[in-house]
Amino acid sequence: MKKTAVYPGSFDPVTNGHLDIIKRACAIFDTLTVAVLANRNKRPLFSVEERVEMLKKSLKGNKKVRVDSFDGLLTNYLRTKKATVIIRGLRAVSDLEYEFQMAHVNRLLYPKVETVFLMPSDNFVYLSATIVREASAMGGKLHQLVPSHVTEALRKKFKNLS
Ligand code: ADP
Repeated sequence: MKKTAVYPGSFDPVTNGHLDIIKRACAIFDTLTVAVLANRNKRPLFSVEERVEMLKKSLKGNKKVRVDSFDGLLTNYLRTKKATVIIRGLRAVSDLEYEFQMAHVNRLLYPKVETVFLMPSDNFVYLSATIVREASAMGGKLHQLVPSHVTEALRKKFKNLS
């Protein structure tokens, strides 16, 4: 039986940290669905469609990965996809508390679910999409931290916003 997993997140925008986690998940699972959350509370910089497109571009050629989007409860999404494994990335200790809360609630909502935490390579331990957005808004270019098409999309986005 094929082992399949879902990697949910905002991906606003996708960073090399996310891509590192995806690569590691692909080494363990047969298929991986990267699921973009259509955040209701946060006001994202990029639309869901833009975020999905950037992920697809970054993952072109990777046959194990699918990119999708969802709204509402992750556990409902998992049920519709018949998936029981959630992938999450763990950066420094700062992620731990929130991630444990989420994993706990998801297990209560869907007991079959298992959350698998993966650690990124050292270069990405302090990388977040928030920091990428903030640096880009002030004209900083983070070549080493996001794919080049994402740098370009950020540049365009902030040009249009200013
Ligand atoms: P962010 O916190 O960067 O806005 P997301 O909400 O898109 O990211 O996060 C989706 C998942 O990816 C979360 O489990 C998050 O901890 C993980 N993640 C994000 N950036 C990294 C990184 N640099 N290294 C490892 N995991 C990461």
